[in-house]
Amino acid sequence: MARVKHVPQRTCIACREVQGKRSLLRLVRTPAGEIVLDPTGKKSGRGAYVHAMAACVEAVLKGQRLQHALKVAPTPENLERLRCDLEHAVARADLLARLPAQRGARAEPDPERRAGPSGTRAPRGSRGSGGAGRKRGSVP
Ligand SMILES: [Zn+2]
Repeated sequence: MARVKHVPQRTCIACREVQGKRSLLRLVRTPAGEIVLDPTGKKSGRGAYVHAMAACVEAVLKGQRLQHALKVAPTPENLERLRCDLEHAVARADLLARLPAQRGARAEPDPERRAGPSGTRAPRGSRGSGGAGRKRGSVP
């Protein structure tokens, strides 16, 4: 009996592309029924993903996709805040994509890089031809 772990495919709810090289932002529904950006990807709850790209973010904020994906109707206030967060995230992702990978120059900690020390997650191995999960040498 092999324990088959179901690895959910992360699909952008705007363009329906499975994550490739572009990074996805995670949106999560809070217990209070709000939709928030989850920068660490660690919040529990029903989640949805969207590319960190203006086009996808716009599509998600305008349409009904969020409601469908998260089964909740966000209030205008909620949407406004979400828009703000997403736009920041997009701007940041855009900036990072343009910059050559330069470490040490920026004091700002990158939440994406800071994988917590809790090694409880199964190693993501067979993921098709994505190859997005490249690990940097983790120094103990
Ligand atoms: Zn997309």
